[in-house]
Amino acid sequence: MMNVSTLKKASQKNRSAMTRFMRDLVRIPSYSCQEKEVVHRIAEEMHKTGFDKIFLDKMGNCIGKIGRGKTVILIDGHIDTVQVTPSQNWTLNPFGGVMKNNRIYGRGAADQKGATPAMVYAGKLIKELGLEDDYTLYITCTCQEEDCDGLPILHIVEKEHIQPNFVVITDSTDMKLHRGHRGRMEIKVTMKGKSCHGSMPQLGVNAVYKMAPLIEEIETLNQSLHTDPFLGKGTVVVSKIECQTPSLNAVPDECVIYLDRRLTLGETKELALRQIRQMPHAKGAKIELLQYAATSWTGLKVAQEKYFPTWVTAEDHWLVKAGLEAGKYALGRKPVLTRWTFSTNGVASAGRLKIPTIGFGPGKEELAHTVQEYVEIEDMVKASIFYATLPKIIVQK
Ligand SMILES: [Zn+2]
Repeated sequence: MMNVSTLKKASQKNRSAMTRFMRDLVRIPSYSCQEKEVVHRIAEEMHKTGFDKIFLDKMGNCIGKIGRGKTVILIDGHIDTVQVTPSQNWTLNPFGGVMKNNRIYGRGAADQKGATPAMVYAGKLIKELGLEDDYTLYITCTCQEEDCDGLPILHIVEKEHIQPNFVVITDSTDMKLHRGHRGRMEIKVTMKGKSCHGSMPQLGVNAVYKMAPLIEEIETLNQSLHTDPFLGKGTVVVSKIECQTPSLNAVPDECVIYLDRRLTLGETKELALRQIRQMPHAKGAKIELLQYAATSWTGLKVAQEKYFPTWVTAEDHWLVKAGLEAGKYALGRKPVLTRWTFSTNGVASAGRLKIPTIGFGPGKEELAHTVQEYVEIEDMVKASIFYATLPKIIVQK
């Protein structure tokens, strides 16, 4: 249908421009809610590569549009990163845009700025090689994913009224094709006690002591959680503990724990909350789902519950088949078909909105959030072929 060597040649011609662009992206810090500068840099590059329309939405996501055909396809990559903290021992400048051994290193290189040049230059390939068809393609470079996965996609669909029929998430897959991942949620458990002087503990009720057996029950629950053959096991872990006490010479009157709950197939937020509420030592405890609230770089106030539903797209779904086909153009072979370990914006597109979703992107998942993050330049070039060919394959169903 499309000529492999033409695609290869045309994509390799963009290699140095993509490399320059990627080094710039790494040089511009873009923590969640602080993406303004990187968003403008991306819009500038989209203007060079020939998108029909380029705009920033109210949340500050940068969106490039091609075509006006019937099938709406959205290819999404988040452009925010986690922080660089003083305690981490980076051996190179995380914001240097360092290039060596045909790789680009730095914060966000693997998770997941490396997909942005591929997405933007896919637009150029589509225009140059005449790959437009009966589709409308949105390339979305989105904000605040690291803080609240799925939020930008929900915003784009519900507030900006873009209604995709198919979604591709470009978060790091190391050039494999992904079709799902576990969901997650954040739970807060508050246990009340009664404080009194530490010299007479028998007069109070120690909130920490009340919490202790519940913590043990949570770990027992963790060991017994369901395992799905494709997605893996559901898990629950105490990720933080704090207590309120009048002084160090007192009995604490409140203890709070936070739970990181990973949800495998079939596990919902109702089930996960019920499991904690039903524990013998949860009596009297307040158990709640946490809420996310923040202000986007544009000043927009955004909020949602911290529940990120599990999703899987069936192996025999047309989108998966189209992804394997596009993979052949990009890699010269069928990509490995698997799933993510971490969570992505797919929790909104597939998990909440039930839009068929797959994932494909450069960068290794296991390098995400580490000090060794890098992306292979060659993988960015190959991924641009994937994103350029997939929309046409999808509509030729
Ligand atoms: Zn990511």
